[in-house]
Amino acid sequence: MEKIVRVECHHCGESLTHPEKTVAGSPALHFKAIEKGTNGPKVDIFLSAKFNDFRKAGHKFPKGTVVRLFCPHCEEEFKSSALKCATCGENLIIVHSENGTLNITGICRTVGCLKHKTNEELPTEPPIASA
Ligand SMILES: [Zn+2]
Ligand SMILES: [Zn+2]
Repeated sequence: MEKIVRVECHHCGESLTHPEKTVAGSPALHFKAIEKGTNGPKVDIFLSAKFNDFRKAGHKFPKGTVVRLFCPHCEEEFKSSALKCATCGENLIIVHSENGTLNITGICRTVGCLKHKTNEELPTEPPIASA
């Protein structure tokens, strides 16, 4: 069965699943993004919510750009964690699942990578540190 990642903002509790937008026919996770080291402007970025589907839509950053991701509702930043992306080595951001379980999802901040995965591949008690 196809696995859909559903996550929420740890700050305001709002769902990051966009109510209408889809990526390649699947529900989309909505973030605001700016290029790391700049002050914006914040642009919309949509990641496929399908597990192991790394397609995305919205603003196109050059491949390899590292972005900072923000909640589209309260604009709070999702801080990077101490966990590294297994593919590119960038620090992952950690977002919480919607259903109140301890499931977490790690999202890579590198455009062209932007992997997301569930805690099946992450420690169950992640060291959530800001960077
Ligand atoms: Zn929020
Ligand atoms: Zn990566």
